[in-house]
Amino acid sequence: MVIGQDITVLGAGVAGLSVARALALRGARVKVLEQAAAITEVGAGLQISQNGLRVLDALGLGDALRARAVQSRAVVLHNQRGREVMRMDLTRRADRATLLVHRADLIDVLADGAREAGVSIRCGARVTDVDIAAAQVTLADGATLQAGLLIGADGVQSRVRAALNGADKAFFTGQVAWRALIPNPGQGPEAQVHMGAGRHLVCYPLRGGQLLNIVAVQERRQWAAEGWNHPDDPGHLRAAFADFGGTVRGILARVDQTHLWGLFRHPVARVWGQGRAAILGDASHPTLPFLAQGANLALEDAFVLARCLAEGDDVHRYQALRRPRTERVIAAANGNAWKFHLRAPLVQTLAHTALRIGNALAPARMLGQFDWIYDVDVTT
Ligand SMILES: Cc1cc2nc3c(=O)[nH]c(=O)nc-3n(C[C@H](O)[C@H](O)[C@H](O)COP(=O)(O)OP(=O)(O)OC[C@H]3O[C@@H](n4cnc5c(N)ncnc54)[C@H](O)[C@@H]3O)c2cc1C
Repeated sequence: MVIGQDITVLGAGVAGLSVARALALRGARVKVLEQAAAITEVGAGLQISQNGLRVLDALGLGDALRARAVQSRAVVLHNQRGREVMRMDLTRRADRATLLVHRADLIDVLADGAREAGVSIRCGARVTDVDIAAAQVTLADGATLQAGLLIGADGVQSRVRAALNGADKAFFTGQVAWRALIPNPGQGPEAQVHMGAGRHLVCYPLRGGQLLNIVAVQERRQWAAEGWNHPDDPGHLRAAFADFGGTVRGILARVDQTHLWGLFRHPVARVWGQGRAAILGDASHPTLPFLAQGANLALEDAFVLARCLAEGDDVHRYQALRRPRTERVIAAANGNAWKFHLRAPLVQTLAHTALRIGNALAPARMLGQFDWIYDVDVTT
């Protein structure tokens, strides 16, 4: 039971704000501690698929997000020369609609929803120490806070995960990614994927089609640190994709600010909860971006954790319900990058021909390959 219980959530990201609203709607008194000085415009595009959208609908926030999102109507793959390999028409199935959203808009909708449910959000509150047994945290200013229940939604470098599991061993995948936003030069409501040897670039419109979100991945030997806020010279991004044809060079010519981050693989946490503490989202299972499921899994976790706690289940039940699914999605995302990065020209031609023929002869099958991800409804 969570009615009247004092719950402290670490982190005002997608996981933290959604679990805060879910718990407050079930009667808990929830406080969110966020290290950032304010909830500001950080980040760029995210894709919210049906499995995540069902959670937002169940939390009463789906329409608020739809009003700020672009609904994608297709995924279009191109080869390195710019030739279209295939166009996957998402309008063939209403249940494949995907929302293209600015992360800041999703955070805004979730933060408004949390406050409206009575959650207090405290910014500038960086947690430096976590005592799991006592459900107590220490802040950077030395203050300590006691909670009835402690929830770690504190992302990839989670202190709560470390307190529950010890240090994890992340390894660099040999890939880096740039992100950038530019004024949209006219791309319609679809995701365009440009595939080349050891690299790929995805772009899609945001905010009523006014902005174009760009994520470009390159295989590379060395990288130093993880993180969302490493500015880079746009010239490096342009140089990495200089031999791409089609629209790629024109798009990259407009980039005047970009961020670069290294893609690391972390193990899924062994322990997701113990006593009066639990973790969710990237804190329990950092996810590579190749299936665009990081935010969607965080939303699913939030709903299931809140329900388990409200129904009096212990946190082990929550872990038992969530771990197998997240492991499967993460394994699929880990295995997806190489498909875009084929190097040998013959292999590339054969693979692209297979995709083109498959999509022409059996479009429903092509569209249905990830039904096992998108069809899940954790709210029922
Ligand atoms: C600044 C930022 C920008 C991002 N931009 C993108 C993007 O453009 N595209 C994309 O696909 N994904 C992006 N992501 C990642 C994506 O949001 C997550 O992978 C996914 O939504 C899961 O969310 P999460 O809430 O579990 O983790 P996160 O989104 O990482 O949220 C964790 C939150 O916890 C806070 N926090 C961490 N440690 C502490 C501490 N010790 N004390 C208090 N607070 C703490 C962080 O500041 C953050 O707000 C971004 C993440 C961040 C933090």
